[in-house]
Amino acid sequence: MKRIVIIGGGESGAGAAVLAKQKGFDVFVTDKGSIKEKYKIVLSHHGIEWEENQHTEKLILNADEIVKSPGIPNKAPLIQQLKKQGTPVISEIEFAARYTNAKLICITGSNGKTTTATITHHILKKAGLNVALGGNVGHSFAMLVAEGNYDYYVLELSSFQLDDMYEFRADIAILMNITPDHLDRYDYKFENYAAAKMRITQNQRPEDAFIFCLDDEMTKIEMTKIKINAKHYPFSIHERVEEGAWLNNNEIILTINNNQLSMTIEELALQGKHNIYNSMAAGIAGRLLDVRKESIRESLSDVQSVEHRMEFVARINNIDFINDSKATNVNSTWYALESVNTPVVWIVGGVDKGNDYAQLFELAKAKVKAIICLGTDNAKIIKAFTGKVETIVEAANANDAVALSYRLAGKGDSVLLSPACASFDMFENYEDRGQQFKAAVRAL
Ligand code: ADP
Repeated sequence: MKRIVIIGGGESGAGAAVLAKQKGFDVFVTDKGSIKEKYKIVLSHHGIEWEENQHTEKLILNADEIVKSPGIPNKAPLIQQLKKQGTPVISEIEFAARYTNAKLICITGSNGKTTTATITHHILKKAGLNVALGGNVGHSFAMLVAEGNYDYYVLELSSFQLDDMYEFRADIAILMNITPDHLDRYDYKFENYAAAKMRITQNQRPEDAFIFCLDDEMTKIEMTKIKINAKHYPFSIHERVEEGAWLNNNEIILTINNNQLSMTIEELALQGKHNIYNSMAAGIAGRLLDVRKESIRESLSDVQSVEHRMEFVARINNIDFINDSKATNVNSTWYALESVNTPVVWIVGGVDKGNDYAQLFELAKAKVKAIICLGTDNAKIIKAFTGKVETIVEAANANDAVALSYRLAGKGDSVLLSPACASFDMFENYEDRGQQFKAAVRAL
């Protein structure tokens, strides 16, 4: 019996294990850290063997194939050892795709993945299609394949997942943008990270679709380096396009097969420049899957915003509190600052992934009246913005940051948590950071 060893016992690992077991493999899950209770229950329920807080080599090196969770870097010694002995290492997405014939709509990019995946899923679901949302957002793809029987999957794919994908083919691939992020995992080489993102187009055929942002310089550069077989559907807010989507004054014009849909940006449920892009990309995918124009318009105007992404929390004393905890890199924070139309008290900081704050100087000078640093080491932020923003203070925790922001903000201002950094120094993850922020705001 073929032995599949799954490294990492989180959402994707547990999903891969359940699917592998269902397909009759000899399955073992190993995690160097501890496995969450809910996944232990799932594994035990399916009679899957697992270990935590260790990697027992003799139970791993005898694998015929390894499914690696995206959180585990390729440079981890165990992965190196497996690769050296020639054991194939794949991602959970690659594994799961072998067991479904459904249409796969795959979304990657540095920013906007979850939002675009959510909008796309909303469009397809509202149109009555049998569709599931998975990958980086919500449930693991493998678990969905094991337990559901869907005709369409909307998948959010990180560059880490794409790294370990080889045969996988997306029917519709959406690339939102490529801006620096996670450089720590790509030898601090931007081109390595960019190349990983382009893997979303690998194996695509002429009848497949590639949806991309024509305004994104890095995407355009990368597109010249590889051959993309799929039909191209660009979206842009600066240039007119024949097929795809563009912005004519304040009107989105979306054309597929000479068939045109238009809608004003005021009608979009999700506001801000970034959401014009996200809505365009999702709209193109919807049209390619033959969703009626009216239905797409309706979905784009009633989709719910996603938690921790420019999420409106409360208006207190005429001060708006916005939770954008998911902004974990400079580019996403750029769009957050760009979309706020009032003076801003900006809560920023955490674990720096090699940030270049210079891109934010212009917006900070124009809009930010005070910075509240929310990280254990804020030296880089303080240095970058001293002289550009009048007030810079440090907060000890989320409660402290909210109390400070309330003191520094005036009527008509906005308090924006958009950290441009990861959260692991002070919080469990970005959700925890966002939740603590919201709880503190609600307690004001
Ligand atoms: P991802 O899943 O790629 O991390 P999200 O959809 O969760 O992206 O959005 C994360 C943050 O990035 C949002 O809070 C917003 O500030 C910003 N953002 C969203 N869409 C875009 C986009 N198309 N381009 C740039 N920034 C974006």
